[in-house]
Amino acid sequence: MSDPRRAVPRTDAVLADPRLARAGAELGRTTVKEVVTDTLERCRRGELAPGDVVDAVVDALPVAATSLRPVINATGVLVHTNLGRAPLSAAAVRALAVAAGPTDVELDLATGRRGPRGRGALTALAAAVPDAGGVHVVNNGAAALALVALALAAGRTVVVARGEMVEIGDGFRIPELLESVGAQLREVGTTNRVRTQDYADAVDDRTAFVLKVHPSNFVVSGFTSSVAVADLAGLPVPVVADIGSGLLSPHPRLPAEPDAATALRAGAAVVTASGDKLLGGPQCGLLLGRADLVHRLRRHPFARAVRADKLTLAALEATLTGPPPPVALALAADADALLARARSVAAALAGVVAATAARSVAAVGGGGAPGVELASAAVTLPVALAGPLRAGVRPVVGHVERGALLLDLLAVPPEDDPALVEAVRAAAGGR
Ligand SMILES: *Cc1c(COP(=O)(O)O)cnc(C)c1O
Repeated sequence: MSDPRRAVPRTDAVLADPRLARAGAELGRTTVKEVVTDTLERCRRGELAPGDVVDAVVDALPVAATSLRPVINATGVLVHTNLGRAPLSAAAVRALAVAAGPTDVELDLATGRRGPRGRGALTALAAAVPDAGGVHVVNNGAAALALVALALAAGRTVVVARGEMVEIGDGFRIPELLESVGAQLREVGTTNRVRTQDYADAVDDRTAFVLKVHPSNFVVSGFTSSVAVADLAGLPVPVVADIGSGLLSPHPRLPAEPDAATALRAGAAVVTASGDKLLGGPQCGLLLGRADLVHRLRRHPFARAVRADKLTLAALEATLTGPPPPVALALAADADALLARARSVAAALAGVVAATAARSVAAVGGGGAPGVELASAAVTLPVALAGPLRAGVRPVVGHVERGALLLDLLAVPPEDDPALVEAVRAAAGGR
């Protein structure tokens, strides 16, 4: 037998294949070359026949010129921070493709003059929250809060309950954010309890506003009390409510989750929220509230530093005006329908791997509705598949519970079920 390495094709010969030349034009030659190099290495190790190299490269090429991979979220966590929070609706994806080119984001096509930036998105947001006298959009929830603190409270004090001095994730702490832009915190109450009188005693002529923060990723129970926005609204300073997850109006399945309309009606002067949690849109920060205050925020020099880009504005508008985004659909999903889907996925895997369907419990996650259990269903698989599923062409991330791998369907759109079956087949080596 001759040395198998002799038969390994040369890199430029592989790159010259018409399919790979086309891929080079779409994805960039560097990306294609990297995949070719890796694939030839496998061929050299004898894992791949020389005649299969081009097919293997085509299979391994990314779908777009990004190292980010499209992942199936079978974690049972609806808004998963590590998976990019809310997936966009198809309508939002189309909108951002439209906005990608030259677009009238800041031009009035009727007059040919400069127009208000992101008018469509802001109009849609104002229509969705009629209680807001003014609306504005920035990069993310943290930027929204930073802008409020900078514009209204630099060098002054912000009164906030000790039990609401929260850390959101990855070391991001709300009190540190406020201090970083020059606001001084005046903490009131204890970890578990605060009363209206505590706030009233703390408010003085240096107070810029009272901040009400939704503890969006934990619950305190037992001997606890907090003060509602309606009660804070009687104080002689504005109330800023950081509601976090971005529900614009009450959601029947999440009765304890604050929403913008309710907070504004209760008397909040400004509400801040994220766009990519329960609203189900792109990463952005929403500012809703009194027209005069929102106007001040928009005109503040720092507003430019946290300006939302045109892609975000387009996707936000489509999220607000288009069909319900995946997060909203998942929140409305029926547990029996999820179980039926889990059964048919398990049935499609019969003979491939030991798969069973079972009811499960999913969570909202990502800074929203802490402690809420969402009735769901999952496909149970051998835990050994967890790694291969993450490493597949279309990675699937599940979660391990009591020694089994659960693929929870709540956050998986039904149209992805066939891809899920395909991914498990490939991971189980049953292709
Ligand atoms: C998520 C969250 C934030 C931060 O919002 P980002 O969009 O992640 O910047 C701030 N406050 C609360 C209460 C949150 O839940």
